[in-house]
Amino acid sequence: MIPPNADTQGIGMTSARTRDRLVQRLREGGITSEVVLERIRTVPRHLFVDEALASRAYEDSALPIGHGQTISQPYVVALMTQALLEPAAGAQPLRKVLEVGTGCGYQTAVLSPLVRQIFSIERIGALLTSTRARLKALGVDNIRFRHGDGFEGWPGQAPFDGIIVAAAPADVPAALLEQLAPGGRLVIPVGPPGGQDLVRYTRHDGGLQREVLERVSFVPFLEGTD
Ligand code: SAH
Repeated sequence: MIPPNADTQGIGMTSARTRDRLVQRLREGGITSEVVLERIRTVPRHLFVDEALASRAYEDSALPIGHGQTISQPYVVALMTQALLEPAAGAQPLRKVLEVGTGCGYQTAVLSPLVRQIFSIERIGALLTSTRARLKALGVDNIRFRHGDGFEGWPGQAPFDGIIVAAAPADVPAALLEQLAPGGRLVIPVGPPGGQDLVRYTRHDGGLQREVLERVSFVPFLEGTD
């Protein structure tokens, strides 16, 4: 017998298969990190969007979350997480990671068990309030949040082993590069709407290595707070 409340999350009985399909799609798209794919399978993305959109939560697309913002496309979250973790394969887990653009917290939840501590900055106060509550309810507890403008990074906690940015500035904020630890990497979309590159900077002894990973489309990086 099917219990009357079996579908309280609104994602139906096929959710496991739907999630597997999403993972398969990301694999075909070139995501190779098994730990990242497992996070995409495990994190309940339907709990990060409005109930009316829950049935579309396992599609590989960005969706609106209010405040003019979006939840990132799963492929892009997987790509960025992989790019952040990659050079450390087989090494110690990343300790301190700075995230700029918490939004609904989906990227935060994907990354949470893969690093020791996340420091996450969001400029929209109302969004941050609901996201804090959501992540707490999901048991995601290695995050420190800040309501602010990520342009300056988080100097009091620097340096970071990794920095991940979910909104696209015209140019890379200098403070973020300065706050990278030796071996640390910054994964960030850069450029105007319609022409952004996802770029990874890695700090080495002699300076910074810059790699362009892919063409992407992010919301703009805005100054100040709301
Ligand atoms: N990480 C989210 C995606 C968030 S969308 C996910 O997993 O789906 C990008 C977020 O960056 C928005 O919430 C936006 O308000 C925020 N943002 C834009 N400019 C910012 C800035 N200068 N400082 C901090 N957050 C910023």
